Amino acid sequence: MATETHNSLIILGSGPAGYTAAIYTGRANLNPILIQGMQPGGQLTVTTEVDNFPGFEEGIQGPELMQKMEAQARRFGTQIISDLVVQADLTAERRQGGPIRLTCDSGDVYTCDALIIATGASARWLGLESEKKLGGYGVSACATCDGFFYRGQEIAVVGGGDTAVEEALFLTNFASKVTLIHRRDSLRAEKVMQERLFANPKVHTAWNSVVEEILGDPKAGGVSGVRLKNIKTGETEILKVTGVFIAIGHNPNTAIFGDQLDKDEQGYLITKANSTATNLPGVYAAGDVQDKTFRQAITAAGTGCMAALEAERYLHEKSGEAARI
Ligand code: FAD
Ligand code: NAP
Repeated sequence: MATETHNSLIILGSGPAGYTAAIYTGRANLNPILIQGMQPGGQLTVTTEVDNFPGFEEGIQGPELMQKMEAQARRFGTQIISDLVVQADLTAERRQGGPIRLTCDSGDVYTCDALIIATGASARWLGLESEKKLGGYGVSACATCDGFFYRGQEIAVVGGGDTAVEEALFLTNFASKVTLIHRRDSLRAEKVMQERLFANPKVHTAWNSVVEEILGDPKAGGVSGVRLKNIKTGETEILKVTGVFIAIGHNPNTAIFGDQLDKDEQGYLITKANSTATNLPGVYAAGDVQDKTFRQAITAAGTGCMAALEAERYLHEKSGEAARI
């Protein structure tokens, strides 16, 4: 049977931003509830080595780092819920002085006085019909999850950022050849990553190229190739591959908030300068859901800390006001 639970503070999301907010608010005795969402641990659970998170001189595997953050959040009394918020009512009840109301996929309802949104971002797709049709049959957005299936095969990665380069490099552990398809003739990935990529003999590049179609049949072996178009010359070619990894960035997970919160044209939540405060009192946003510039684990954790401190101050002031009334 569906339940209804009230807590002064709820955190949405279990990436670095959400867990950091939980550690800080837990240590402030706020006993936060954290709702994990469809990807417990967030984006770092689909990567391997994380080399740039301070404190791990040899690097650390993404999933292990997230397990450590979860354990630390639990240590300070965070109640962790395996569920996904499907409806967020941030304003209706509050106009009458009521709480924020969150309805989960299970039907359970959580209400709170302050909310930290750390719902991060999800992989972006090209938007081709064939990409949808062949999803899980050779089309993937997660090399760590699916790379193993491509031992000795020729595959392609689409994109030119850090994710694409990282995925391409990781895939060279399995594939015999990896073609990086990019719509321009230079990458936006970090220089050190680019150097590693270009030094790898298994990596080939298709510059100024876009995927027009992914070829293959889900019932007959899945992906068999991609039709590429060179956007400078207009020429098309078929690249024979058995797998295509799409690594073209992420979209912020903000759909459930509708137009209750201010967003930019790409859907990122807008926060006040030097703050994680949104346009609604008591509602804070941290991590990739509000950051289209840096999008790093450490910056997500940093803004998770800011949101925790701001939410704590808000709840403190609110309880002081209540006491004065
Ligand atoms: P995310 O990690 O995106 O987590 C979002 C959380 O919100 C998830 O737990 C999800 O389940 C939850 N959620 C979403 N919707 C809902 C909902 N409706 N209800 C409840 N919960 C919800 N950064 C680095 O600094 N170093 C790296 O080496 C690095 N490698 C990367 C490799 C890859 C392949 C990728 C994709 C990213 C990498 N990044 C790296 C970037 C880094 O992962 C992100 O910047 C960081 O994870 C953002 O943290 P976050 O907490 O904002 O959100
Ligand atoms: P990103 O930096 O936004 O790069 C997306 C890439 O995909 C760009 O090269 C872009 O091309 C291309 N692209 C976008 N839409 C496309 C489309 N429709 N068709 C074809 N190509 C398209 O995204 P990201 O690589 O996922 O990185 C996101 C953030 O996570 C970044 O801040 C990154 O630094 C971080 N990250 C860090 C690490 C690390 O530190 N090791 C690893 C992974 C990710 P253009 O270049 O032409 O725009």
